[in-house]
Amino acid sequence: MSAQSRSTLEWQQLDSAHHVHPFTDPKALTKRGVRVITRADGAYVWDSDGNKILDGMAGLWCVNVGYGRQELVDAATRQMQELPYYNSFFQTATPSQIELGQALAEVTPPGLDHFFFANSGSEANDTVIRIARHYWHLKGKPNKRTFIARTMGYHGSTLAAVSLGGMPHMHALDKVLLPGFAHIMHPHWYTLGGTLSRSEFGIVAARALEDKILELGPDNVAAFIGEPVQGAGGVIDPPETYWPEIQRICRKYDILLVADEVICGFGRTGQWFGSQTFGIEPDLMPMAKGLSSGYLPISAVAMNKRVFEAVNEGGLLAHGYTYSGHPAACAVAIANIRLMQREKLVERVREDIAPYFRARLQELADDHPIVGELRGSGLLAGLQLVKDKAKRTIFTTEDDAANKCRDLCLDHHLIMRAVGQTMVLSPPLIITRAQVDELVSKVKI
Ligand code: PLP
Repeated sequence: MSAQSRSTLEWQQLDSAHHVHPFTDPKALTKRGVRVITRADGAYVWDSDGNKILDGMAGLWCVNVGYGRQELVDAATRQMQELPYYNSFFQTATPSQIELGQALAEVTPPGLDHFFFANSGSEANDTVIRIARHYWHLKGKPNKRTFIARTMGYHGSTLAAVSLGGMPHMHALDKVLLPGFAHIMHPHWYTLGGTLSRSEFGIVAARALEDKILELGPDNVAAFIGEPVQGAGGVIDPPETYWPEIQRICRKYDILLVADEVICGFGRTGQWFGSQTFGIEPDLMPMAKGLSSGYLPISAVAMNKRVFEAVNEGGLLAHGYTYSGHPAACAVAIANIRLMQREKLVERVREDIAPYFRARLQELADDHPIVGELRGSGLLAGLQLVKDKAKRTIFTTEDDAANKCRDLCLDHHLIMRAVGQTMVLSPPLIITRAQVDELVSKVKI
C-alpha cells in the first residue's frame, strides 16, 4: 500500500478502528490524531502531510546508520530470494547465521565470542535469564536463580523482562511480578545523591548490590543486570566509580554480570559497546536495535568462555525461537556491521560528532532556565527539566513539562522523547554538525 494512497484523515480513521498501539494512552491518540510516518532518509522522516521531521531518536534508539541505506535493503532482498527462511534448530544452520557470528566476534569485546540469536531485546533478556539459571544448575548450584536489577532499568516487555526491569508503571499493569527478581536503587546522582560527591555516590549506589546479595544470600543470586547507561529510565549515566565497584562485588560473591547493550551497543556511546566505554567485563551481553539498525528485527546474546563452555557441555538447551537467526535479519545485520566498519561510524561518534553534540547540549544545561543537567554518553543524551535550577527541584507529573516540551518540539519538526521529566535524545550516528545545530535551535524555541 503506497503511503500516498490515502489522506491523513483516512489513515487516522483506519488506525483508530483497528490498531492497538504499544506504550500509548489511546485517549491522547484521539485528542491529537496519530501522526502517520510514511518515509525516511538519512536523519529525517516525513509524515503523511509531507512534513520533514528531524529524528532525534533514531526511531526507538535503533536506526544507528540512518534511514535509506540501500546496501541493507539489498542484503535483505538477496537473502530473501536465495533462502527466505530456515532455522538453526535440530542440527541445521544457514550461511548468514554463521557469518553473523563471525562478524559480531570482530566487534564485541575480547572474550565475548559466542552468540545466541533472537528477535528483540525482550527475547534476548528472556534468553539471558534462562541461560544464567541453566549455567548455575550445570555448576551444581541450582538455587542461584534470582536476578538483581535496578529501579528505572528497562529490559523489555515480556513477562520475564518486565519483572527484570524496574519500571513502576509497567509493574502496575501486572500487579504481581514473577518471583526471582529483586531491585536496587538506580545510580542517579542528580536526584538521589544528596550532599555526596558524584564519586562517593557511585560507591554508595553500587554497595546497594552487596547489601541485596547479602540479604538474599549469595547462594540464591544468579546474576546482576544493568544497562551501561540506563536508557528508557531517563538516560542515567552512573558516576565513574559505579561500574568498577559493581564488578568487584559480582566477582566477590560469584554472581554473573550482565550488561544490557540493547541501546548502548553499536556505537551509541562512542565505542562498539557501552561496556567498553565504562570498563565493564560482562559474562553475558544482550544486544538488539543497532545490531541491524532496526531494518529488520534481530537480537543476540553474547556469552563469554565461562558461560559458553558450561552451556556447550550441558546437554539440550531447551530454548529458542522459530525466528532465532532469521536468515534475512542476519544478512541485514552483517551488512550493517560492515557498513559501520567501512564508514568508521564508531570512531566518528567518539572523535567528532558526539563531542560536538554534547558541547551544544551543554549550552542548554548551562543557560536554559529549565534545563538542570545534561546526562548520558556519546550520542545518547538526557536533559533533566527543572522548576528551580539552583535547588534542583524537578517538575511534578502534574506540571507535565516534558510532554509539553516534546509536543512543542514535534510542532517544530523535531522528534525528542519525554521520559518522566527528562527529554531524551539518541540521533542516528550519521547526524551532521549542521543537523545538530538544527536540533539545538529547535529545542531552544
Ligand atoms: N533492553 C533495553 C536496554 C532496552 O532499551 C529495550 C528497549 O528499548 C529492551 C531491552 C527491549 O527491547 P525490545 O523492545 O526489542 O524487546
